[in-house]
Amino acid sequence: MEQHEVLIVGGGNAGISLAARLLRDGVRDVAVVAPQPLHRYKPLLNYVGAGEATMADLERPMADVVPDGCTWVRDSVESVDPGATTVRTRGGRTLHGTTLVLCPGLVEDWEATPGLLQAYADGWVASTYVPGSTPQVWPRLSSLREGSVVFTVPPEPASCAPTALKPLLMACDHWRRTGVLPALDVTLVLPAATATGLPEADRVLEEAFADYGVAVLREARVERVDWDVHALEITSRTGRRVLEDVAFAHAVPHYRAPGWIADADLAVDASPGLVDVDPETLRSRRHGSIWAIGDAADLATRPSGGALRKQVDVLSRNIAAAREGKELKRYDGYTVMPITLSHRKLMLNEVDRDGAASPSVPFIDPFKPRRWAWLFDRYGLPHVYWHRILRGKV
Ligand SMILES: Cc1cc2nc3c(=O)[nH]c(=O)nc-3n(C[C@H](O)[C@H](O)[C@H](O)COP(=O)(O)OP(=O)(O)OC[C@H]3O[C@@H](n4cnc5c(N)ncnc54)[C@H](O)[C@@H]3O)c2cc1C
Repeated sequence: MEQHEVLIVGGGNAGISLAARLLRDGVRDVAVVAPQPLHRYKPLLNYVGAGEATMADLERPMADVVPDGCTWVRDSVESVDPGATTVRTRGGRTLHGTTLVLCPGLVEDWEATPGLLQAYADGWVASTYVPGSTPQVWPRLSSLREGSVVFTVPPEPASCAPTALKPLLMACDHWRRTGVLPALDVTLVLPAATATGLPEADRVLEEAFADYGVAVLREARVERVDWDVHALEITSRTGRRVLEDVAFAHAVPHYRAPGWIADADLAVDASPGLVDVDPETLRSRRHGSIWAIGDAADLATRPSGGALRKQVDVLSRNIAAAREGKELKRYDGYTVMPITLSHRKLMLNEVDRDGAASPSVPFIDPFKPRRWAWLFDRYGLPHVYWHRILRGKV
């Protein structure tokens, strides 16, 4: 059996930045279990969907982002034995961690929306959330001249769900500038009554929806997709309706945590099955040597890459503190939901767990759309991500 001081499951934003930070903080033996050959900076997917970036801008070989000194186990975890703090992999290995950190992100719940997977395979539906389909989004959106187009925001749990508005609002801006907006019926399917649940941000967004003429279905979900006739069946607070002859649908799947978390009795519930941790200390409520951060953890706040900056810092300190019997640090639920209002303006929406403004730059209103914020999100943050966040320097 392979042994490691800290064993991390998942090599996404959470796993790689935590591994780098732990090594910087002096942990000598860190291993990451991650199957995929590529690492993606996911926030740029929305800019690919708006014709503002390419997939090459957001993908790097995993081998280039695994930190020096970290063991990369190129395999996929299939089960956990929490009592023994071991994991079993698809390749048949058993790995032990004195400390075990779970950050495998979320998986698509295709069964939640019958017909959606076939619609992706057909090419009629694509979205920035399904990377294999993302390169199709902008060619489809930018070539529309008339007809009906539908966008959805996925219900929680989902990865920084309000950012699914980015392709919608950048496309509306493009259609207005090219003169086709009046010929399009644009519908937005929102899982809740408003887009973010943050009154200041929602006020700005409602103005944008009205300004672009977007019809908003609230407390709504896509129940099924009839991909062969290009129709979506939707229930909302105003009842059930079928949208027919939809020219293009940016329909984001629903999500859940990987099933092996619930199978190991580490989840809050069977479905969506997020890891049951203390949302402040990030430690499993059931096993003291197990911790979780990122999209798969139940942290009582919106998951985001921005949130991980704080989570990684707290977790790295807490792993050391737990070993030394010291008091644990607390994560305040900080998160960020950057939303573009047009092709050149963005509001950052940085908040704490209670939804109160929590700007990284003091005294800056995080709900005000700004041009520099768009440029920072598109060009500044990717640089910070590759060169600082993934190297454990933030
Ligand atoms: C389209 C999109 C746009 C976004 N925009 C923003 C934004 O603008 N700002 C922002 O802050 N955040 C944004 N986010 C959210 C941000 O990208 C996520 O919160 C962040 O990537 C979560 O990191 P993670 O490591 O928890 O999960 P992931 O990044 O999903 O990584 C999980 C990793 O674990 C691996 N894994 C899965 N199962 C196993 C297994 N069984 N064994 C081993 N490894 C496994 C996966 O292959 C994956 O690489 C966006 C997300 C998406 C999808």
